[in-house]
Amino acid sequence: MPSNLRTWIEIDKKAYLHNLKFLQQNFKGPIISSVIKGNAYGHGIEQIIPLAQEGGINHFSVFSLDEACRAYSVKNKTSTLMIMGFIPHDSYEWVIEHDIQFFVYNASSLLQAVKAAKKVRKKAKVHLEIETGMNRTGLDDDYLDKSLKIISDNNKHIDLIGVCTHFAGAESIANHVRIKRQIINFNRNLTLIKKRGFTPKLIHMASSAATIVYPRTRKDLVRTGILQYGFWPSYETRMSFMQRFKHGIDPLRRVLSWKSTVMHVKTVEPGEFISYGTAYFAHEKKKIAIVPVGYSDGFNRALSNNGRVLVHGKIAPVIGLVNMNMLIADITSIKNVKAGDEVVLIGKQKNNTIQVSSFSEFTQQINYELLTRLPDTIPRLIKN
Ligand SMILES: *Cc1c(COP(=O)(O)O)cnc(C)c1O
Repeated sequence: MPSNLRTWIEIDKKAYLHNLKFLQQNFKGPIISSVIKGNAYGHGIEQIIPLAQEGGINHFSVFSLDEACRAYSVKNKTSTLMIMGFIPHDSYEWVIEHDIQFFVYNASSLLQAVKAAKKVRKKAKVHLEIETGMNRTGLDDDYLDKSLKIISDNNKHIDLIGVCTHFAGAESIANHVRIKRQIINFNRNLTLIKKRGFTPKLIHMASSAATIVYPRTRKDLVRTGILQYGFWPSYETRMSFMQRFKHGIDPLRRVLSWKSTVMHVKTVEPGEFISYGTAYFAHEKKKIAIVPVGYSDGFNRALSNNGRVLVHGKIAPVIGLVNMNMLIADITSIKNVKAGDEVVLIGKQKNNTIQVSSFSEFTQQINYELLTRLPDTIPRLIKN
């Protein structure tokens, strides 16, 4: 593997394509929009889009304009981009000019879009995001009314192609009543919109969790994030799938591995402390490997004296405090470790695997958070 890199992330192409096939086979009908916000959940926007297109995906969802710019520069001409969140006021012209679809959740951004559409002489393609109970973005009833009027008055400039909403936690059974209420609210609003003579062709509400737990929310499009990367939104979602589909084993494959190399090896005598302060005391003679990855790379400081890495396919505990740029692994029981040997922080090495979920036991981070906090600056390499 790359000998010139300090740390890198490997993207397993076969595993990713396998997951896409899983989605395509199990969720037939709706358009599958690949959600690539948060740097494609840490996997890399520039790396994931070409693979997704190879796997037959041609719809992508991002959170904000900056992500849309990155996605736009790598996607095929025929793929559709949709911004689900933030667009700066002065950027609607660029968005409309480049045929990028976007959520509208207040009347003022709709007016902004009308103005921009007139200027660039192109129709804005909007999805009305309805407030159904999440109480975040989403048009409240009175604003919905106002927005529909703006759209009618400007039908030369605005194309209402979608109506959507987002659930307040479909991955947890504790939210079941709230989700059901959201579905009812959504359908009520949709009826109203259709009564006014609109015929939006893309009705959508489901993220990964709802796609599995509430199959009737799949509608015309599903916004699938975490599943495509081989992770479940929650244990409950996984259980729900296993029961519904009578699957014994996890049908998803993890796509991302995170690696580094041993930078230095040394022996520490009994009675010494290792690394900063007194967090780790060597009761016996210790052999340690210094790894050039620290909390500035997203390796959480809460993993001090808690985490583990793989060296020569064996588990090496992280000892002492995680530093800004380095961590220390206990390799006392692993033979012949030398500078330059591969270290696995996430993923498989020989017969052992470090799971993303193992981090959350010490850091309280959910898999979404750990993945998206992996810095953009770590190189992403495709493993074919
Ligand atoms: C992040 C997000 C999704 C995807 O969520 P997953 O749980 O990763 O599938 C879908 N819709 C919206 C509005 C989102 O913000």
